[in-house]
Amino acid sequence: MKNYAIFGDPVEHSKSPQMHNSAFNYLQIDANYKKHHLKDAKKLKNEFLKKYAGANITVPHKEEAFKQADEVIGIANEIQAVNTYINKDGKIIAYNTDAPGFLKAIECFGKLEKVLIIGAGGTAKAIALALKEQNIEITIVNRSDDKLKFFKEKGFITYNWNNFRLDHFDLVVNSTSAGLKDDTYPMNKGQLENIFLNSKYAFDCVYGKETPFLQLAKLEGLKTKDGEDMLLFQGLLAFELFTNTKADNSVVEAMRKGLRGE
Ligand code: NDP
Repeated sequence: MKNYAIFGDPVEHSKSPQMHNSAFNYLQIDANYKKHHLKDAKKLKNEFLKKYAGANITVPHKEEAFKQADEVIGIANEIQAVNTYINKDGKIIAYNTDAPGFLKAIECFGKLEKVLIIGAGGTAKAIALALKEQNIEITIVNRSDDKLKFFKEKGFITYNWNNFRLDHFDLVVNSTSAGLKDDTYPMNKGQLENIFLNSKYAFDCVYGKETPFLQLAKLEGLKTKDGEDMLLFQGLLAFELFTNTKADNSVVEAMRKGLRGE
């Protein structure tokens, strides 16, 4: 039996085991995927190579996982954070499936030219760099200045809350954790209302609840979507790497059922 895991701190809330085990069961693959609580990121490489054929890595270890990999593939090199490890003959091959997973999740909005990303954390990096590869114009707005440095250096348009300048956007993405455990907006409500009046679609990376951000977007008549598909598709792409297969729609549905606990 092959063993897989998700490393994180905390990791208790993760839905990845449900999702991957559901697909393993559906395809009758002899494998098991579990939660691996890891406090000390320095132990990641050792623990992974000792026990697992593949793994996902979540908050707060994605940057450290990038550093400890033997080989990093694709867009992860620019993002400098990885969420997927493959054990290839005792060497770690690492990928970032958050970025392409996000692109798949927003396919339903069609062609986009201008996107506003609220927030400047790890998720915003993956999203911004994925969209940049599609030649989409990206603007980032964040509560504070510190995390904007990375985006400025990459040539993105950046603002903090105070110097933000309104524009028309096809899509507005909430990549902050505002609304996750509380009922706050990721920006001042008045500013958000003006943004939505000039935009078509709204996407929230948070999943499992309708955040105040999405409620307000709906009220303003925007087409909206939460982060469930982003989670699903990053998992699906990781699953394809784990099993070296191309998953069809029936596997997607097995993973979705697992994710929803159905
Ligand atoms: P980080 O901790 O790296 O970044 C958090 C960002 O949110 C920072 O820019 C921070 O601003 C901002 N922020 C936090 N709280 C507030 C607030 N109350 N108001 C305004 N801005 C705020 O987090 P991640 O990028 O890793 O994750 C962000 C969100 O994305 C989380 O909710 C997470 O659950 C979700 N997520 C969803 C995924 C999915 O598959 N659907 C995948 C990964 C993440 P500042 O710099 O000022 O502190």
